Amino acid sequence: MPSRRAVLGVAAASVAAAAFPLPQLRAQARPRVVVIGGGFAGASCARALKQMDRDLAVTLVEPEAAYVACPFSNTVLAGLRGIEAQTFGYDGLGDVGLIRKRAVAVDAERGRVRLNDGTNIDYARLVLAPGIELNFDALPGYDAAAAEIMPHAWKAGPQTLLLRDQLAAIQDGGTVILSAPANPFRCPPGPYERASLIAHYLKTSKPRSKLIILDAKDAFSKQRLFEAAWQELYPGLIEWVPLSAGGQVTEVDAATRTFVTEFGSHKADVASVIPPQRAGAIAQVAGVADQTGWCPIDPVTFESQLRPGIHVIGDAAIGGAMPKSAFSANAQAKACAAAVAALLREREPTQPKLINTCYSLVAPDYGISIAGVYQPRDGLLAEVEGAGGTSPLDAAKEVRELEAAYAEDWFRTITSEVFG
Ligand SMILES: Cc1cc2nc3c(=O)[nH]c(=O)nc-3n(C[C@H](O)[C@H](O)[C@H](O)COP(=O)(O)OP(=O)(O)OC[C@H]3O[C@@H](n4cnc5c(N)ncnc54)[C@H](O)[C@@H]3O)c2cc1C
Repeated sequence: MPSRRAVLGVAAASVAAAAFPLPQLRAQARPRVVVIGGGFAGASCARALKQMDRDLAVTLVEPEAAYVACPFSNTVLAGLRGIEAQTFGYDGLGDVGLIRKRAVAVDAERGRVRLNDGTNIDYARLVLAPGIELNFDALPGYDAAAAEIMPHAWKAGPQTLLLRDQLAAIQDGGTVILSAPANPFRCPPGPYERASLIAHYLKTSKPRSKLIILDAKDAFSKQRLFEAAWQELYPGLIEWVPLSAGGQVTEVDAATRTFVTEFGSHKADVASVIPPQRAGAIAQVAGVADQTGWCPIDPVTFESQLRPGIHVIGDAAIGGAMPKSAFSANAQAKACAAAVAALLREREPTQPKLINTCYSLVAPDYGISIAGVYQPRDGLLAEVEGAGGTSPLDAAKEVRELEAAYAEDWFRTITSEVFG
């Protein structure tokens, strides 16, 4: 049953559409900002907009009743945590109007979004934060049906539980294979954290098993730290096959859980395919994604370079060097909210400086991290030289334990900031 907030939100949307159908009338109303997508980017942006300017009417469009967070979802695979610890409702959004629908079309000329029930909402500015969609066209053999056998678990929820159950059912001595795509994709260190935590599970529960990573790249985020940790914690258990050694997967056969590469094929007992990705479907429909499948933005305002009046934040955007992470999504959301609030009041947006830190768990008590600072330069979000870095390569056990604890603290802090 829809919540009272959702019902009120839909009613408000219909009234707005009926009462202010013309651009000149809309201009006299309280400016309405519509945010599509209630993930780390969209929910953060909607809340920040309201905090920055109480006079704005802010509407968040999100079809799901609850959000299942990807950060820490690799611990669910390893049986270290339940999916409920990853799940967040939308009751803490304060004065943000929530509409429990899917956006299906955008009329940028008229400033109007169409929802899946046929209703329309008008906007003065639109923020798109739909995250990713899996690019099934890019990997022959992999589609929604194949994902039920070879789970991607790259959107947390039922896919995470499916992969967890498959791992729980594997025989000791079995082979787990996961494939990682070429850049750019959601969470650059994510596949390697996944490999690490699955290895932890195998080592402690099914020690004769093996894990292979088939990679479409020759280098990856925090590589030296991961490799040193694998050597120390999981010797002989993890095999990483880079692009140059035949790691790129060109096709999969779900019926036999087989990965095909240019150098041969690999059959798995448990297979996780992390396929190529692109911006969520609504970004393609709205005309803000380019031929790469991602959305180019102005690095100061996050306004689309393709459609004025529409801003894109989070994983769907391509913002230069900034990685696709929940931390980035939250930072971009706040910078975008400040820019939108300024533009609606005809003020000059300020130049943002954005921080990202990504923690990865290699084992439950072994954390590593990478941090970076980004600012607009030459139309992109460029890394500020010397401002970031990774965990030391030769840190003591206590430092790794502390970083694992910081990772938990970070997750608690960011989810309470985003979802209330
Ligand atoms: C295994 C894994 C581990 C990760 N670990 C970390 C980590 O440790 N740290 C970190 O910072 N990041 C991590 N990430 C990355 C992080 O999850 C993403 O970068 C982040 O979720 C991006 O946020 P977003 O809001 O752009 O997209 P999402 O979180 O995907 O949110 C998009 C929302 O939009 C909604 N939506 C989509 N289309 C529509 C539509 N048409 N209408 C209405 N709503 C729509 C969806 O329902 C969804 O709620 C990890 C990712 C994975 C897969």
